[in-house]
Amino acid sequence: MDLHIFKQPSLEVNLLNQQEEKGIFFPAVAKTFQNSKNWALVEIYPFLKVLNTMEKVKELLLSKGGYILSTLLSNGGQYAEIFFEHSRTTRVHYENGKVDKVLHGFDGGVGLRLIKDFKVYYGYTNEPTLSNLLEIAKVLAKADGQGPVNWGLIKRVGTTDVKIDPDQTPLSYRVEILERANQKAREVGGDKVKQVQAVLMDKTREILVINSLGEIGEDTQKRVVFFVETVVGENGNLQRGYESLGGLVGFEIFEQTPPEVIAEKATRRALTMLKAKPAPAGQFTVVISSEAGGTMIHEAVGHGLEADLVQKGISVYAGKIGQKVASELVTVIDDATLPHHNGSFSIDDEGVPAQKKVLISEGVLQGYMYDRLTAMREGKQSTGNGRRQSYRFAPIVRMTNTYIAPGKDNPQDIIADTKKGIYIVKMGGGEVNTTTGDFVFEVMEAYLIENGKITYPIRGATLIGNGPKALQDVDAVGNDLGWSIGTCGKDGQGVPVTDAQPTLRIKKLTLGGTEV
Ligand SMILES: [Zn+2]
Repeated sequence: MDLHIFKQPSLEVNLLNQQEEKGIFFPAVAKTFQNSKNWALVEIYPFLKVLNTMEKVKELLLSKGGYILSTLLSNGGQYAEIFFEHSRTTRVHYENGKVDKVLHGFDGGVGLRLIKDFKVYYGYTNEPTLSNLLEIAKVLAKADGQGPVNWGLIKRVGTTDVKIDPDQTPLSYRVEILERANQKAREVGGDKVKQVQAVLMDKTREILVINSLGEIGEDTQKRVVFFVETVVGENGNLQRGYESLGGLVGFEIFEQTPPEVIAEKATRRALTMLKAKPAPAGQFTVVISSEAGGTMIHEAVGHGLEADLVQKGISVYAGKIGQKVASELVTVIDDATLPHHNGSFSIDDEGVPAQKKVLISEGVLQGYMYDRLTAMREGKQSTGNGRRQSYRFAPIVRMTNTYIAPGKDNPQDIIADTKKGIYIVKMGGGEVNTTTGDFVFEVMEAYLIENGKITYPIRGATLIGNGPKALQDVDAVGNDLGWSIGTCGKDGQGVPVTDAQPTLRIKKLTLGGTEV
């Protein structure tokens, strides 16, 4: 059994051992500034020295990379790789009408990987001196000496095109965004508002991949994540509403979608649930709005199409290429090339360029998502799905931006054409057993459909079903498409993803309700 959890979006802030500085190395540092008085101190936190150190490490790797790769391969192997990463993160929490916490983190290091007989040997350091790297390489290769490698033949350099670079933006800008959200939530919710929490995170991540295939890849990824959660209450009944925004983008994201829009959505959702009736239990026709988020596609389908799970024999989609695994209305795509989406990049964490992959075409399974290792095992090419949380981890197969392609139906017509059913406007988190495809999803906002009309909101619902079965039962696909951001957790590593689906109708799903 393999369970996956789709969590709310997050950017990792490293709060690791704050070591003493010595020699050329990266201290993994993070500072927490509690309470509203001290947040301004963050501005003067000295990162300049660390940035210089980072440049020195890159120079070292670009001059001595061949030596390190040779050492890794000195005792044989199919593939050797140097992965350098440097990241800086700022995370501002706003709660109870003030800045509650500011986390400012910085991390960097180098991971070395050897693939030999399809097994992975991995080591990393946040003190990337040549002697430390060679020592790790020797341990991984379990031998002294060096062999010739060709390296640096192909170069790829990617960057995130941003208009308002978070790195050049003062903390006061972030605080202003959060204050605007807080104000709007309180204005919309009035005296029913019990709590407003808003969080803004930004991360700049620079990676460098040097491998024994002769490739050097560099990418600078800038991401922003913002979310608002409003808790409202009336007569002892408390309800929460949540909404998020983010992507591979700078702060210009707030010019397209102001923080007020997110705060209003979160608050209205909570207010609606205040009026909701307990959800009924049983089997229902379910219409999932394009606004609902892509939990369904991510959990019910996506994980099962990751080649590592397929090769381990723990995917319900194993051995089914060319077979019909979904309704012919369903086409599933994973696309890391979409501009500004949370799961996008120029190169993946193994230096492979971002790609668009059609996984299921009109119901027929076309292929799986691969990283280098799983591709090597089948004599295939990686699909650019090798990702890692940081240099501390070897990459594994991960989704990027995964979605069900829009269909032909008008979303309003789908509802009007449903006699009795459930209309889901916002999905929460979920879990799937990839071996069987069985899933359970939380529902955040839902309504009853009676005679083609949305009648009243319901709360406390969960969706219970089976991925392949649910996809076979899709009988209407809308011409819309809605995206939601998240952090996908797998094997203890979290990576940013986006998921989307059009408005979908599933003939029959089980609703776990709370109605007595
Ligand atoms: Zn996941």
